[in-house]
Formats: sequence, C-alpha cells, structure tokens
Amino acid sequence: MTTQAQQTVTYRNYVNGEWVAASTQQLDASINPANKSEIVGYVQKSGKEDLDRAVQAAKSAQIGWRKLSGATRGDYLYKVADILEKRTDEIAETMTREMGKTLPEAKGETARGVAILRYYAGEGMREIGNVIPSTDSEALMFTTRVPLGVVGVITPWNFPVAIPVWKIAPALIYGNTVVFKPAQETAVTAAKVIQCFAEAGVPAGVVNMVMGDGPVIGHGIAAHPGIDGVTFTGSEQVGKSVGQTALARGAKYQLEMGGKNPVIVLADADLDQAVEATIIGGLRSTGQKCTATSRVIVERAVYEPFKEKLLARVNELKIGDGREKETWMGPCASEKQLRTVLHYIEKGVEEGATLLCGGKQPDGEALKNGFYVEPTVFEHVNSGMTIAQEEIFGPVLALMKVDSLEEAIELANDVEYGLSASIFTKNIGHILAFIQDIDAGLVRINAETAGVELQAPFGGMKQSSSHSREQGRAAIEFFTAVKTVFIKP
Ligand code: NAD
Repeated sequence: MTTQAQQTVTYRNYVNGEWVAASTQQLDASINPANKSEIVGYVQKSGKEDLDRAVQAAKSAQIGWRKLSGATRGDYLYKVADILEKRTDEIAETMTREMGKTLPEAKGETARGVAILRYYAGEGMREIGNVIPSTDSEALMFTTRVPLGVVGVITPWNFPVAIPVWKIAPALIYGNTVVFKPAQETAVTAAKVIQCFAEAGVPAGVVNMVMGDGPVIGHGIAAHPGIDGVTFTGSEQVGKSVGQTALARGAKYQLEMGGKNPVIVLADADLDQAVEATIIGGLRSTGQKCTATSRVIVERAVYEPFKEKLLARVNELKIGDGREKETWMGPCASEKQLRTVLHYIEKGVEEGATLLCGGKQPDGEALKNGFYVEPTVFEHVNSGMTIAQEEIFGPVLALMKVDSLEEAIELANDVEYGLSASIFTKNIGHILAFIQDIDAGLVRINAETAGVELQAPFGGMKQSSSHSREQGRAAIEFFTAVKTVFIKP
C-alpha cells in the first residue's frame, strides 16, 4: 500500500537553473484549506545558505541579462506567458487546492498573470528616457534607465500567481535578475509558475526561487548585501520591518501592505448595483484581498433597504470547496487565517457591534474538515471599534450609518490605511468631492473596491504602501535607476 507521503510530490527550490533541495533537508507540508487532511505537496524549508547561493547565481546572471536588448528579454516573457496560458487549468486547480479560492477566480488570476507577462514583454520595446533641452546649445541632455541589479521579491499567499508575476515580469524586462521568496502557504503554486520560466528557457540564474519561512528567507532577502532592491507585498507589520531592514543598508525597497477599504452608499445610489459590488468586493476570495471591502458606510435614507437587500444576497451565498461548481465562497486560506477572522468577530461582539448574520464556522459534515467561516455582517459599528480599524482579511462587513457625504468621507478616512475606496452615487458634485477628499490610492466610482486593471498604477496611501506604485508603466520607477546624461561634442 502506498502512503500519502509517497504519492505527494516534493517541490524544490530553483537556483541557477536547477531544481535543488534545501541545504537544511527540511520540508513543510502544504495543506488544502478545504480539507486539512489533504497534502497538496511538500515544499522546502530553506536556510540562509540556500539564499546565499541564489543571490550569487542572480548576481552572476545579471551581467549577461542586462546586456540583452529589451526586445530579447521580452521574447522570453512572451514564451513564459504562452506556457502559463497552456497550463492554466492545472495551475488554477493547484491554487484552489492550496489556498481555497474558487476555481473560476483561480483561472481568472492565472489569466491575469498571462496578460501581465505579455504587457511587460511589450515594455521591452518602449522608451526608457526623455530628452531634456540643455541651456548649452551644443549639448545633448537626456535621461536613460538602468536595472537595479538583483531584486528580492517577497509575496503573500492571497494572489499566488498574479502578485509574483507582477513583480518578476517588470524586474526582468528592465534587466534585473530575481531572487523570489513565495509565501510558504502557496509555495506549490509558486513552484509551478517558476516551472514556466524554466521551460521557456530563461537563462540560468535570472530567476531563482527560495522557499522558506518569512523570518529566515524573507528577512534574509531584506538584509542581504547582494540584493539591490526589495519588493514586498504582505502585512503592514512585516512590510515595515522589511522596509527598515532594507533602508538600514541603503537598498531600494517597495512595500504594498494592508487595507481597510470603505464603500460609501449615498441616498441616490443604484442599491442593487451597490449591494452586488459590496458582495463581490467584500466576500470574493473569502475577503482575503488587500482591496477587499471592509466598511460599508450608508446614508440614513437608504440604510434599511440597503441592509435588507445585502443580507438577502449574503444568505444566498454557497460556501464550500472551491473546486465544486456551485461554490461561491471557499474557506479561509489557512487555520491561522481562520483563527484571526474568528478572533475579530469575537472582538466585534465584545465591543458592542450587532451581528446580523454569520459569525461562526458553518455547520455541516461536508465542511467540518476545512477552515470555513460564514460570511459575516455587523451593524451598529462605530469607528473606534477594532473591527472598524484593523484589517481582518476575511469575509466580514461592518455597516455604518451616516447623514451626509461629508460625514461619510470623514468616517472613511478615519483609519490608518488608504488603499482602495468606492462610492455609489449619480451626483457628479459628490463624485468630484469624493475623488478629491478620500484617502485612497485606488478611487472607484460605482464599482467595487477590489479590482484594478494591470496597465494602471496600483498602490495605496497612508500605511497601506511605501508610496511607490506597481503595475503598468509605473513599475519602471521602482525597477530601474535613472541616469541623466550630458554630452558635449
Ligand atoms: P505576511 O506579511 O505575513 O507575509 C508576506 C510575505 O512576507 C510572505 O512571503 C512571508 O513569508 C514573508 N515574511 C513573513 N515574515 C517575514 C519577516 N520577518 N521578514 C521578511 N518577510 C517575512 O502577509 P500574508 O499573511 O502572506 O498576506 C496577507 C497580507 O498581505 C494582508 O495584510 C494584505 O492586505 C496584504 N496584501 C497587500 C496587497 C497590496 O498590494 N497592498 C496585496 C495582497 C496582499
């Protein structure tokens, strides 16, 4: 009889073009959150030595990679895109098994990864500088851009394909090489993404992946003298420590962190549209998006009808394994995440908010083996409560009632985060005031908070970000250094 351990694949680090076991000889099991007895794969628990080797490989490969034309680097990315596209079903299925989001969402995310790769492949043919008129009529003055060198990429588990790709693709197109540390919870999915780079023939050492714990490999990247730039997405607490560590040794860094994103629903809003956007923005991916809707600020005149419609929709949502066709919402990504969400729900009740629905793990034999939690809605939430201030990262909505747009914006801004914010109204004056006054890097009108196109700048204000932007053309700012050139005959 074969044991599960024998059947389950072990995924290795990818260093200098080879799949290698960690020097520690230690493995972690990656678990399916919809069924905790199912092991998706074994992944490496690497040590500092493994990171050193990857940095060395990236450093050596950088010399040749930066010399290639942007168009040639782009050709590699087009190949990676084609391979990822062909493997969409398999990689999406792995993502669903590894972190719980539904299969259509996982396929959508993989397709997004493909589109990002193609977008940055094209960037290899676009301008990287400007001519600036010199006061010396004989001189030519212009800017050009050069790669940073070796870039460290640290990513979370909630978008295990799209986030690594939207960092690795611009890093590569602008001539950097990469040391990538995926979230350990989704390292199998990450390994499959890196297989696409390997299969595409991206030269050895250009992309390296080292799996392992955050405090060892993540911190190791931030602290490593061989890494010239660190791009991080994850929680605020970890992000800030990564930023401080990189800053202390003079490395460039970029941090995209948490959110506490509000939706404002004004009296003239299309309520059905606002309800649908709140459901999608707040509860898709089990609320585990940095741009997820968390606070729902509703004008008094429409509060009751909005609430009624919202609760009716929430009660229809089917929870289950993301691989099943009828499932609308999967489990939390891990036991740790489930405990965090349940802790915040308890806090909400303790601090006096009223639970309107959800608030617990669902009943039912089919769900007892997974990290499920019911979609949860609170009302009578005031801004001082923990559930109105801290990022929950789960399917929990807090309803708040206001009397005016001014009050709504003041409440929306009364948090330390500033990632995404939406308003539902038809009043152009209110829309303009919202665009002007809301503290958010992503400002959305009559659309859900979660959602951003890959060719547009992405990032937050306040504690949500280190204020640089990812995606689109904006990525060039982080992944390159500017040289100002002055030429005299
Ligand atoms: P996390 O901060 O726990 O982990 C993120 C990454 O950092 C992981 O790879 C982890 O292993 C690593 N890490 C952990 N400890 C570290 C340390 N001491 N030094 C260096 N690296 C370390 O976050 P998570 O739980 O994986 O993801 C959820 C968080 O990510 C949420 O706060 C969410 O808002 C945020 N997020 C932000 C964005 C955005 O673009 N703003 C997008 C997605 C997720």
